[in-house]
Amino acid sequence: MGDSLRIGVLHGDGIGPEIVPAATTVVSTALGRNEIDVEWVDLPFGAAAIESHGTPAPDETLRALDGLDAWILGPHDSAGYPAEFAGQLTPGAVIRKRYNLFANLRPSRALAADRAMSPGIDLLIVRENSEGLYADRNMATGSGEFMPTPDVALAVGVVTRAASERIAREAFTWARRRRGKLTIVHKANVLTMTTGLFRDACLDVGRDFPDVEVSQQHVDAMAAHLVRRAADFDVVVTENLFGDILSDLAAELAGSLGTAASINCSSEKAMAQAAHGAAPDIAGRGIANPTAMIGSAAMLLAWLAQRSGDERIFAAAGAIDAALAATVAAGVSTADLGGAASTAEFAQAVAERV
Ligand code: ATP
Ligand code: MG
Repeated sequence: MGDSLRIGVLHGDGIGPEIVPAATTVVSTALGRNEIDVEWVDLPFGAAAIESHGTPAPDETLRALDGLDAWILGPHDSAGYPAEFAGQLTPGAVIRKRYNLFANLRPSRALAADRAMSPGIDLLIVRENSEGLYADRNMATGSGEFMPTPDVALAVGVVTRAASERIAREAFTWARRRRGKLTIVHKANVLTMTTGLFRDACLDVGRDFPDVEVSQQHVDAMAAHLVRRAADFDVVVTENLFGDILSDLAAELAGSLGTAASINCSSEKAMAQAAHGAAPDIAGRGIANPTAMIGSAAMLLAWLAQRSGDERIFAAAGAIDAALAATVAAGVSTADLGGAASTAEFAQAVAERV
């Protein structure tokens, strides 16, 4: 990799146009300090693209993404789109499917210990992102749900050995890089075939990682354990729906959903996407916490650095994480963490510290 990165920017809906610029500001500063230029490639997507292109996921945007390795995706509020788009894949799912971004990595760590219910939490949830009980991501029709009669609704869950082994390998690799512990979360006592296959595939992959300590939990028990003793867990691997729910829980235990960073990735492409949604209830007021979006962008840099081996990109990612922590430690925070800083003020304070 040369001295310049090209990164796509899809602003999204709701608080997206507030938190995405916060992230690009901080990333530009961090890369600049490490002598790397960044070219931001703005692409229409989401509600704005419905207005300009008549569709939330324009072909022109998707073709542009074909030529990029990495991009930042703001949250989208597909529930708020016109009725003609109801039942279609959400715009984020269109991208995840197109590039087979099978892994969703969601770390949780407390930035402000006094605001965290679990100050010692340091968790990485590795969520299978392509199948499971969020069946819509598998169906050509855009929906894995159907209603044979107006009073009966069905949903199809899909689990394959191949996808389960692929996500397990990702999770074990992370466990090895971290504290060497992996918890497989399933519900194999009830969903015996689907989540049972997921569990078995993870256990099989574990034979290649004898140095990683493996445990397993049912998802309901895992929710209870997280509330009581989150700090005991290191890496968690689970299917799509369980991972979505547990990561919101972990984010709040760590302080706020507004701090929940994540990336969606394969070995070829990566997309920074905060774990939270478009937060329409607070959009347009300049009070959203950009920490999750900034942290997601830092994860994206770490992914790029891992691939290229460029230490300066690693340094930029590390500097962003440190700056986020230092900013909150200095008493600057947004309303969700009890502070009074606006989205832009918080981002500025982080940029000054990278
Ligand atoms: P989705 O299905 O898209 O994930 P959701 O129903 O889970 O959406 P969110 O949009 O994540 O909902 O919002 C949940 C709550 O968290 C809302 O009250 C919202 O205001 C709050 N929230 C989410 N993100 C942030 C943020 N960055 N800063 C402050 N509050 C946030
Ligand atoms: Mg959500």
